[in-house]
Amino acid sequence: MHLYEQLWSEGQYRRAWSLYLASPEWRIRHGECLGRHAWCQRCHRYRASQAHHVTYARRFHERPDDLLALCHECHRRTHGVHSRGRARHHHGSGSEQMHLPFRCSPSESVAEDDQATSP
Ligand SMILES: [Zn+2]
Ligand SMILES: [Zn+2]
Repeated sequence: MHLYEQLWSEGQYRRAWSLYLASPEWRIRHGECLGRHAWCQRCHRYRASQAHHVTYARRFHERPDDLLALCHECHRRTHGVHSRGRARHHHGSGSEQMHLPFRCSPSESVAEDDQATSP
């Protein structure tokens, strides 16, 4: 079991999530998602740069269909909808998602620290 899975089971959602976003497992899935979709799947105008979670049902073990390749702007907007509260969760499993910091991409958060230490 990975540390982030353990932290999640202990209820430390934010720590678990940021750890996961820095993990090699996520980097591979993130990279594969962008490898499959060079262009943003929402606007089809800009290059996709971030993998967005369509569902967290299989968090830490996402399937290709669970991720959407988006450009920075579309990704920002997608999450903006959540924070404005306009789109209410009308499906049953929404409550769990509220625990997440809603950062899908390593480039949004932890990438900078990483780049500083790598050659
Ligand atoms: Zn876009
Ligand atoms: Zn996202």
